[in-house]
Amino acid sequence: MPLILLTNDDSIFSPGLKALEEALSGLGDLYVVAPDTEKSAVSFTLTIQQPLRVNRLDQRHFAVSGTPTDCAYLGIKTLLPKRPDFVVSGINLGANLGEDTIYSGTVAGAFQSSLLGVPALAVSAIENREGEYDFTAASRIVRKLIPFLLDHPLEEGKILSVNVPFRPKGVLFSKLGHKRYDSEIVEKVDPRGKPYYWIGPGHIRTFGEEESDVKTVEKGYASVAPLSLDFCDERLYGDLKKGEENLLATLF
Ligand code: MN
Repeated sequence: MPLILLTNDDSIFSPGLKALEEALSGLGDLYVVAPDTEKSAVSFTLTIQQPLRVNRLDQRHFAVSGTPTDCAYLGIKTLLPKRPDFVVSGINLGANLGEDTIYSGTVAGAFQSSLLGVPALAVSAIENREGEYDFTAASRIVRKLIPFLLDHPLEEGKILSVNVPFRPKGVLFSKLGHKRYDSEIVEKVDPRGKPYYWIGPGHIRTFGEEESDVKTVEKGYASVAPLSLDFCDERLYGDLKKGEENLLATLF
């Protein structure tokens, strides 16, 4: 049986993580290493300024005083009896589409695992208008994807990001689209008279190709998007090289 590490960014007590664990039971030898409190939107934060504490809740559940990235490190390198064969990060409560990917702790947990050489996927469930979640479809999709990915491992630095709307019509592969936040800043005064600021979601604008994750989900389908950590823009590199002579002369 493959050894599968589960993590997330909503904390070890999240119903999404519980649903994932139930969904994958029987599919592998499951271990959970997850933050002890919510760490949404921490991206790749690595805790290096303070020690990490691990609360072993039982044989297979470790609550860590850190981020999903910390959990991937500790889980893969120390806490588990052996190196895991696969990592699943989720099921996140809420979408991780377009630019959410940059901030997402869920996605970072999967990417960090992939960078440590363990194939991984991230999975997020999207609430309905009433704010309710149904993890059934996300659970089924992940349960089907894992055996496939164990047979066809992704390269290091590449993951799949799965986003599942409430009771989807089907599943489609998609590219990363765009989801931009024009965040409002709330400014108030604390009980000691000092100002504080809080960044809210503000107005959200989504756009992208028909095959993008944002459009796929808007049409009511679950999205399976391949993601890479290669940030290099090949086209811009080409453009810079073309004008190299003139530009470089001014730089040095
Ligand atoms: Mn989250």
